[in-house]
Amino acid sequence: MDTAEIRRRFVSHFEAAGHTAVPSASLLADDPNLLFVPAGMVPFKPYFLGQETPPYTRATSVQKCVRTPDIEDVGKTTRHGTFFEMCGNFSFGDYFKEGAIELAWDLITKPVADGGFGLDESRLYPSVLIGDDEAVGFWRKVTGLPDERIVRLGRKENYWSMGVPGPGGPCSEILYDRGPAWGPDFDPATLGPDMPVALEDRLLEFWNLVFMQDELSAVRSKEDFDIAGSLPKKNIDTGMGLDRVAFLLQGKQNMYEIDVMFPVIERAMELSGKKYGANHEDDVRFRVVADHVRSSMMLIGDGVTPGNEGRGYVLRRLLRRAVRSMRLLGYDDRALPELMPVSRDKMAETYSDLSRDWDRIARVAYAEEDAFRKTLQAGTQIFDLAAQEVRSSGETRLSGAKAFALHDTYGFPIDLTLEMASEAGLSVDEDGFRGLMAEQRQRAKDDARSKKGQHADTGVYRGILDEHGPTEWLAYETLQTESKALALLSGGAPATVLAQGDIGELVLDRTPFYAESGGQVADAGTIEFDGGRLEVLDVQRPVRGLVVHQVRVVDGEFHPGSRLLAQVDPEWRTGARQAHSGTHVVHAALREVLGPSALQSGSYNRPGYLRLDFGWTTGLSEQQVRDLETVSNNALRADLPVGWQYMTLPEAKEWGAIALFGETYDDSKVRVVEIGGPWSRELCGGTHVEHSSQIGTIVITGESSVGSGNRRIEALTGVEGFGYLARERDVVAQLTGLLKTQPDDLVGRVGDLVERLRQAEKEIEKARVGQLLAAAGQLAASAVDVNGVQVVAHRADGAGGGDVRTLALDVRGRLPQGAPGAVVIIGAADGKVSVVAAVNDLARERGVSANDLVRAVGPLVGGKGGGKDDVAQGGGTDTSRIDEALAAAVATVSNA
Ligand code: ATP
Ligand code: MG
Repeated sequence: MDTAEIRRRFVSHFEAAGHTAVPSASLLADDPNLLFVPAGMVPFKPYFLGQETPPYTRATSVQKCVRTPDIEDVGKTTRHGTFFEMCGNFSFGDYFKEGAIELAWDLITKPVADGGFGLDESRLYPSVLIGDDEAVGFWRKVTGLPDERIVRLGRKENYWSMGVPGPGGPCSEILYDRGPAWGPDFDPATLGPDMPVALEDRLLEFWNLVFMQDELSAVRSKEDFDIAGSLPKKNIDTGMGLDRVAFLLQGKQNMYEIDVMFPVIERAMELSGKKYGANHEDDVRFRVVADHVRSSMMLIGDGVTPGNEGRGYVLRRLLRRAVRSMRLLGYDDRALPELMPVSRDKMAETYSDLSRDWDRIARVAYAEEDAFRKTLQAGTQIFDLAAQEVRSSGETRLSGAKAFALHDTYGFPIDLTLEMASEAGLSVDEDGFRGLMAEQRQRAKDDARSKKGQHADTGVYRGILDEHGPTEWLAYETLQTESKALALLSGGAPATVLAQGDIGELVLDRTPFYAESGGQVADAGTIEFDGGRLEVLDVQRPVRGLVVHQVRVVDGEFHPGSRLLAQVDPEWRTGARQAHSGTHVVHAALREVLGPSALQSGSYNRPGYLRLDFGWTTGLSEQQVRDLETVSNNALRADLPVGWQYMTLPEAKEWGAIALFGETYDDSKVRVVEIGGPWSRELCGGTHVEHSSQIGTIVITGESSVGSGNRRIEALTGVEGFGYLARERDVVAQLTGLLKTQPDDLVGRVGDLVERLRQAEKEIEKARVGQLLAAAGQLAASAVDVNGVQVVAHRADGAGGGDVRTLALDVRGRLPQGAPGAVVIIGAADGKVSVVAAVNDLARERGVSANDLVRAVGPLVGGKGGGKDDVAQGGGTDTSRIDEALAAAVATVSNA
């Protein structure tokens, strides 16, 4: 029974029982806690959590799933794919244990002729959670099986929860005994509480029925949690692995051999010349190829692009592992263009988007393979050398320094090094590697800090913090504070005075200044003291809690201790707020235009300007950039409210706030800034406008690449944005003035001008060639007799290759007919030398060859060339010996 038929039977079985068929959601979960959808219940989560009311009480689906933790199992067990499809039926407060058991058992045991799967009852073993006697009762009632056939398993196997307080419940896994070839004999009555690993491939779990009945108040681990009580409404969530049932019903050994996967293995066999089934190591590689090619195709289909973090990194890893497995099978050419279309042909029967989006999918996948091939080429040699060194010194461990060098210099991700090392029988000093990575990060940070002109090491700041406590930081509340100076540094050391013009670092008891963070630059402003004024150049937080102002004395002599008035430049702050809110708007707009996989990877904003980097492999089209600008400005016009609130990180995620990968949020409470409610929610500590219209305008001024897999958007906000547009209007005004035309006609006018210029250039060119050829008659007349050959050897300064050739051929045609003749012209233009020799038939009979002439000239002009006997051509870069070269040509004729 092919996979498509199993899917159809599953869905119609549950539709017949009153379930609404719901199409698969995207693999990209609408849930910041999940990289990908790992189970069929995910799209129904709001119903299970009671956050939304389901429009039905019974539903069924076949959901695309990706489970990254299973990546290491692929090909080694018979049953784990990174991508697979989960068939499920769901009851929201409708039927419960008995109904779920009945529906499942009926489908799997019903004869094939009657629309079921026809599995042999004697091989089926239902399992329950130890103590779930209710489930045992229903299993016995529905199946008629004796008590000892029902396997009792512990919480590890048979209790489900989401890992957080909320719903949970016991499960019943349905197991299929594949027979003694797949594992030792067992006694079902005494199995458990854990499923022995040796039995996992024999007693195959293919369906899991979750009986959601408990309310959990605390979850400490999978097996350690507190049940607070019963759920008011009990639910059913089940998951049947389509791929697993397929290999059972198709009589295959494992999921990689089913109808929709095996063709990729067949193609890989053809390419590699290796046979599947010949040895275990190669078999695992074939299966990895089949699995990863399919998974990466499905991920790209849903909008993931390769990158160095999060989803992009998973995809990159899958693609790279597929390519490397092909290499290990002995196939070194580009593999994905051969394999992925095979997978597409199978999967597109169900997921027709794959065909529609094929160009994009193929482009993304193939480009990643090409990039990886380059990396591999360089890195593999280095790795092999390093491995050899390790072995010859009698060791078995690759140093952290080597692994780091592979990463730093050759872009080898650590997991690739780990894999290659384990294949070479070596281990890797991972701790050493991580230590070096951390050092590098620290160096980069220090570097960035020292560039800001701060010399004190953090010890000094720690000391200040210990003595005075954290700065009272009022940037959100006010632009002006009365403050006291707590510490003054000059050149990184404590100081008691700063003279006029001096620069130092000042710590206040309280400050309204925003310290640079989260991409927003520090505030500018002044600090007034009795008898003078400081200008604030920079504000940083070198250690948590301590705000340090870099200041220059503008007026007077500064002694700490006096009362101060710290004032943020309000204009500056307005600009900074506009730019920072603008960054959030552009980010949200970007995700609207490109889809939710466009995720910010970095940002920077200062008054009037913002820039946002995001993970994306291809350049944006002009249309996309225009759409981005339109969506952004529509959001300003809609005057969306901007607000923020504090919450815990899990709460923020639950709320859909975007927490950027790689950022650490170590506060117990995070700040979520939202614009237009859920339209834009980001974790952010920046200063913002109150309404989106206060941003004024957003003008996109650039879209460019910043390293592999990242693009950058640049934009101007507020007055700067208007200024930019005004300048453009000025340019247009000047042009219309110059061209004496209206703005609407400008493009046409300039087009005309360019066309006329092109025509004029053509005319000039024609005239120049005419002049050149006019010289040809004179040149022919100046031929000298060299051993009976009429020779013209001429230097044409200012003539390029094409002109030289035209001239040489023309002169040859004008030499006296009936006499041997040879022409050599050497032109020099823009530091380049062009040589053309042309010889007529009679001269050739005398042994004069154009090819010989050019070869004789070549070395003298610092180049080479050649051709046939009648016409030959060459060139060089040395213009200093052209006359000598002409003489050499003449000598060659005379020696012929
Ligand atoms: P296993 O212990 O075999 O990894 P599981 O307990 O992780 O399975 P569930 O989370 O209960 O599986 O998922 C429900 C069903 O989805 C499983 O019964 C199985 O049929 C299928 N399934 C789970 N993981 C995979 C996978 N990596 N590849 C293919 N099918 C899977
Ligand atoms: Mg699993």
